[in-house]
Amino acid sequence: MTKEKHLEAQLLHSQKLDAIGRLAGGIAHDFNNILSVILGYASLLKMKMGTDDPFRAYLDQILSAAHKATRLTQGLLAFGRKQPMDLKPLGVNSIINSITKLLKRLLTEDIDLRIRLADPDPTVMVDSINMDQVLMNLAINARDAMPKGGVLSIETGTFLMDSQFVKSRGFGHPGSYALIALADTGVGIDKETQQRLFEPFFTTKEVGKGTGLGLPIVYGIIKQHGGYITIESAPGKGTTVSIYLPLVSAIKEETKAVSLPPKRGTETILVAEDDRHLRYIMRTALTSNGYKVIEAEDGLDAIHKFVEHKDRIGLVVLDVVMPKKNGKETCDEILKISPDARVLFMSGYAEDILYQKGIAGQTVDFIAKPVSPDDILRKVRAVLDK
Ligand code: ADP
Ligand code: MG
Repeated sequence: MTKEKHLEAQLLHSQKLDAIGRLAGGIAHDFNNILSVILGYASLLKMKMGTDDPFRAYLDQILSAAHKATRLTQGLLAFGRKQPMDLKPLGVNSIINSITKLLKRLLTEDIDLRIRLADPDPTVMVDSINMDQVLMNLAINARDAMPKGGVLSIETGTFLMDSQFVKSRGFGHPGSYALIALADTGVGIDKETQQRLFEPFFTTKEVGKGTGLGLPIVYGIIKQHGGYITIESAPGKGTTVSIYLPLVSAIKEETKAVSLPPKRGTETILVAEDDRHLRYIMRTALTSNGYKVIEAEDGLDAIHKFVEHKDRIGLVVLDVVMPKKNGKETCDEILKISPDARVLFMSGYAEDILYQKGIAGQTVDFIAKPVSPDDILRKVRAVLDK
């Protein structure tokens, strides 16, 4: 293949992945609302049920199935790059160190895990849960490729991507990157299969073994971090996966928030959400934990209710996608009225409007749908106590 043809094929390939991603992301978004309703009502029912109720076991099954479905949609969202992220500066070495134990448990005993870490630890902006998922998916693939054992080596380093690299490889953006490379000594991948690795549901594994979602999720997460991934392999020669993540000049690491059982409160909370079931679930969860709730069914309604009750509102919870005025527009209006109003966004969709510069990251508090009553209680308390 000539170089031009190669680049063209690569472009078509990434456009195809983009289209599939948009489709998957769109479905997952609607599905998240439905799941929030199932999770919400089931949780409320469990709250009201006696601890010795014989039907509790049924309810636990419903909740556990809904949680499984949640993980599935989150996988699809990750691939569609629509998953909300919680970005923090972290060293790639510390990401690897914190997951090594888990990786060892995933790998079979005849696989030798060798880790070589760069010094100093390259810092990147990442969602650590997402990155753990990336490493786990890749380790599982390496394990499956080495049924008779072998070596999985993980290395970290830094990489200066220059325009020469970008030109010759047909991807990338010049700059400094942290590099994580996972190399296995497994069966390798032929050229034909290599073309399809990132397609959702593409698997060469037998039914029940592979889902074909491992690499698409990895791809989506890395893209969402502004990074790149390459897979080099040949049959019988093992496989090397390289992940490039934009380097940030070291910022001090934030301590990870520990999850505590939800605390009660007494504050008044304005909840703007257009789905009446979700509104009901949020109200019930909040009021049964001491909060007072004012409900709004769209952005405009939220602004009116805020104006009316602004002196006693401690927090505004805004759905991002709402009729009349979306969450962002509503937030802007509310901040014009009260510049120090506290706002918590809620969405199953990392809408671009939310992730534009200045709004994303540090300043915005965000909770991802589907939200369980516990999640919302915990997050509300955390934002109020800030
Ligand atoms: P799954 O693992 O469920 O099949 P993935 O998206 O993780 O789905 O991987 C898709 C396919 O890519 C696998 O079925 C396998 O054929 C191939 N593959 C991925 N990683 C490796 C690897 N390290 N070595 C060999 N083949 C691999
Ligand atoms: Mg896999």
